[in-house]
Amino acid sequence: RIVFFKIHWLFMQGETRMMRVMVTGGSGLVGKAIERVLQEEGAREGEEWIFLTSKDANLMDLEETRAVFQKHRPTHVIHLAAMVGGLFKNMRQNLDFWRSNMYINDNVLQTAHEVDVVKVVSCLSTCIFPDKTTYPIDETMIHNGPPHDSNFGYAYAKRMIDVHNRAYFEKYDRRYTAVIPTNVFGPHDNFNIEDGHVLPGLIHKTYKAQKEGTALHVWGSGRPLRQFIYSLDLARLFLWVLREYDEVDPIILSVGEEDEVSIKEAANVVVQALEFKGEVVYDTSKADGQFKKTASNTKLRKYLPEFTFTPFPEAIKKTCDWFVDNYDIARK
Ligand code: NAP
Ligand code: GDP
Repeated sequence: RIVFFKIHWLFMQGETRMMRVMVTGGSGLVGKAIERVLQEEGAREGEEWIFLTSKDANLMDLEETRAVFQKHRPTHVIHLAAMVGGLFKNMRQNLDFWRSNMYINDNVLQTAHEVDVVKVVSCLSTCIFPDKTTYPIDETMIHNGPPHDSNFGYAYAKRMIDVHNRAYFEKYDRRYTAVIPTNVFGPHDNFNIEDGHVLPGLIHKTYKAQKEGTALHVWGSGRPLRQFIYSLDLARLFLWVLREYDEVDPIILSVGEEDEVSIKEAANVVVQALEFKGEVVYDTSKADGQFKKTASNTKLRKYLPEFTFTPFPEAIKKTCDWFVDNYDIARK
């Protein structure tokens, strides 16, 4: 029994020493945030990190996916790579969102299984939740009814990751799981006005309006509600999920319901951070999208009652400062 215990202990030590983590989508908003948190906090002993971009492999292609997994032989994967966009890009390109994300996810998860990856943490989103639902939405409700029409391609493709995870567990006992973040923002976001999410879009539009002395045009009525999460906070939570979270079922990574804000409130915070003094106009000819997707973070709070989120105005200020300081290299 002692011998068995020693071997088991040595094996466990070996396991904690050897963790080769490959991050798909390592050049994006969330990938860059994980990289920065690791630089600031230092990786744990025995952890080796590899950050991939689409130049390393087009994950829509199975052979390229297999080649990059063979090259790095990861034991763990954080799977972020995806076709991502704000409401308006989603409305224009439902078919592309569906096909790209279905291919990427099937290739990554099947190849991870083939090369014996121990754990995969993939990324869902609260914008895949049912449109007609009760609130707050929790992890058990992802498949309870169709998503909002505006982004059904992205939503259904993302929901299928949960199906993949359950099926790999059922057939092969794989611990492949997923997190469900709310609307993410921070340095290295996509600040493209037509394609990006609301906060990078508003930051870029406010910056331009200030430079050009024009009005800021906020799209839609400003009434929809959103929970926003700062990318650096999300990155810290991702590291916890990778190292500690043991369930196959997904977990919502979100600020509390009480921290939900309207688009109008969010626009005002951006206006203050950039000290914009011009007129703010609401363009109601543009879509509002899903009115709200209020998510419960009760499950997260059970695991991490003490976790502190960066206050929203502080995180917005840091993101605006990053955009102004890095205007030339920012994605826009
Ligand atoms: P992002 O900034 O747009 O970055 C996307 C990443 O995916 C980039 O590294 C990109 O590589 C890579 N990628 C895209 N297509 C690829 C392909 N065919 N092959 C290989 N790599 C590819 O996205 P993000 O905001 O960080 O999102 C990360 C994850 O979080 C995604 O799964 C997304 O669905 C999820 N999520 C995002 C939000 C949000 O508000 N942003 C909210 C909830 C969930 P290149 O840089 O080389 O193009
Ligand atoms: P969603 O949270 O998945 O719906 O996606 P977004 O991050 O794109 O947020 C969309 C919400 O913000 C809608 O209510 C839009 O009407 C509103 N909005 C206001 N201005 C903008 C903008 O400049 N860009 C985007 N993407 N949305 C905006």
